[in-house]
Amino acid sequence: MARRLPPLPTIADIIRLYGLSARSQLSQNFLLDLNITERLVRVAGGDLSSCCVCEVGPGPGSLTRSILNAGAAHLIAVERDRRFLPSLEYDTGQCLPAFKLYSTVQLLSEASEDRLKVVYGDALDFNIEESCASFVEGKSWEGDPPNFHLMGNLPFNVSIPLLLKWLSLMATRTGPFSLGRTQLTLTFQKEVAERIMAPPNDPQRSRLSVMTQHLCHVKWGFKIRGKAFTPPPKVDAVVLKLTPLVTPRITVDYSTLEKVVKALFQYRRKYIRRGATLLFPEEKGGQTKAQREGLVEELFRLSGVEETLRPQALTIEQFGALTSAYSQLVNTDNVASL
Ligand code: SAM
Repeated sequence: MARRLPPLPTIADIIRLYGLSARSQLSQNFLLDLNITERLVRVAGGDLSSCCVCEVGPGPGSLTRSILNAGAAHLIAVERDRRFLPSLEYDTGQCLPAFKLYSTVQLLSEASEDRLKVVYGDALDFNIEESCASFVEGKSWEGDPPNFHLMGNLPFNVSIPLLLKWLSLMATRTGPFSLGRTQLTLTFQKEVAERIMAPPNDPQRSRLSVMTQHLCHVKWGFKIRGKAFTPPPKVDAVVLKLTPLVTPRITVDYSTLEKVVKALFQYRRKYIRRGATLLFPEEKGGQTKAQREGLVEELFRLSGVEETLRPQALTIEQFGALTSAYSQLVNTDNVASL
């Protein structure tokens, strides 16, 4: 039976009482409707008892409440806005006197019987496993996912860099993925979620599709209309759940795959031959134009991939073949790589 929080003021009341205005530079679009955050928790799996969760950007705490209500045993939340930290670390000076020493987080922290810890930091640099490892029973990569989740109504402006960072940690099984196949339940701008999920030949197919699908099973949770947020952004959001695959779709070095995918998508509307020339830079190796053309030809010959495809048409396996061929070529003497 999940441990529930005692009754608390609504998030809307809290925002009003504490005079919290949203800061656009931190992509603050708050969810005030707990039905939505509870649904988000159900996408993660519903019952979080005996789980440790790391939440990105708790803000005034709506998703935080739903995670605690789902019984999470430990919740470490990382927040970049000091207004959402416990009162001893921050005093807004704008609140009603009675609330000055009693921040939103303090309230929630006490109600949670110390299951919640909010730390100040940038999720992009935050050492998640250092803060959470002691609460998590690590699992082998081949086993079930560990009792550990990454969750967040992500700030739109850092969602892509965060995802790319987590994917590179997933590829090397480091950071939060040193504890096993840690699952992630996150919101993204709808257009970004569509890019993440796009199959070959879909107009939204992009670098994010290839890098994510290579490593994860991605499940579409549900759409959240822009007007459900306060303040409402111009776009809708989507909740996605990512589960790392036991075996990645292709066996290649992740950073080399990243270079190849990035170079080919540089010219989305052109044949991949055009982007492939970027993989053999003139400046670094002093390769002549003719040598570069020869290397590009060799890349397609070795990989068996047709050079007159457009990047959106390529399967993950074709990106894999090109990456293996590229590694083979740049390991040859005198070939300069990116
Ligand atoms: N979880 C709250 C909700 O659902 O209403 C707030 C979500 S709001 C979209 C994003 C939150 O992330 C804000 O509280 C913002 O201050 C915080 N944030 C922005 N950039 C961050 C970063 N780099 N690291 C950690 N938190 C960040």
